[in-house]
Amino acid sequence: MNKTVLEVTHIQKVYGKKGEKQHEALKDISFDIQEGEFVGIMGPSGSGKTTLLNILSALDSPTNGDIKISGATLNGLKESQLSDFRAKNIGFIFQDFNLLENLTMQQNIGLPLSLQGVSASKTKKKVKEIAKVLDIERILGSYPTEVSGGQKQRVAAARALVHNPNLLLGDEPTGALDSKNAKNLLEALRGLNEDYKTTILLVTHDAVSASYCKRILFIQDGLIYRELHRRGTQQEFYQEILAVLAGLEIDPESLV
Ligand code: ADP
Ligand code: MG
Repeated sequence: MNKTVLEVTHIQKVYGKKGEKQHEALKDISFDIQEGEFVGIMGPSGSGKTTLLNILSALDSPTNGDIKISGATLNGLKESQLSDFRAKNIGFIFQDFNLLENLTMQQNIGLPLSLQGVSASKTKKKVKEIAKVLDIERILGSYPTEVSGGQKQRVAAARALVHNPNLLLGDEPTGALDSKNAKNLLEALRGLNEDYKTTILLVTHDAVSASYCKRILFIQDGLIYRELHRRGTQQEFYQEILAVLAGLEIDPESLV
């Protein structure tokens, strides 16, 4: 039976206080994600993608609406409860890696466990396991300044996954990578999704990145206006995504 990992119901986000200049970044967003899905949220710059991810990861709170992650409602939790919830349930990959420069890769990846009080030996074992999956075992002793952007982002992915979160969130995780490293990261994410059933939600404005997902939600001006499921090959899905972005719907049957 399918398990719902994320339930988003009528989320609205208004920036700015009453009486000041206000901006409605999210108008009315609702969607669900089931365990094992690989979902993309696509939209142009300013459409509300980062706002939405920050709300989903409990870094920010919505003006209205409800969020449930693995059955738990985030509304009404205190800041300390939210950060505890985040630490246990969510992994987050940022566009700019967010690694700590004065820690080794081993220490960076292990940080979410160390902060939860997991023992050093258990942390080391978990870091080794996830590093193997992401093919970064050889650089565990290096510092962030000593490796490439692509390797840094795989380390960031390992850090986001080391505590086995129920949901992996990424905000333009390939945004700072060249196309080869972007492809490597996306293939690693696809592998995690296929082999380990990791539930992934990626935000991107890039059609190539989006074509790795199995379902795309298109967002504009704070509203989801279209949803696309991948049925055929990645190349066909890429063409369908481009067509939606161009405002031209095409019949997938017509793609050879
Ligand atoms: P995206 O990630 O899709 O580029 P954002 O979620 O960053 O979009 O922004 C959506 C809209 O909300 C934009 O118009 C942006 O200017 C506005 N916005 C984002 N953050 C803030 C903030 N902290 N205060 C006021 N307006 C904001
Ligand atoms: Mg953004």
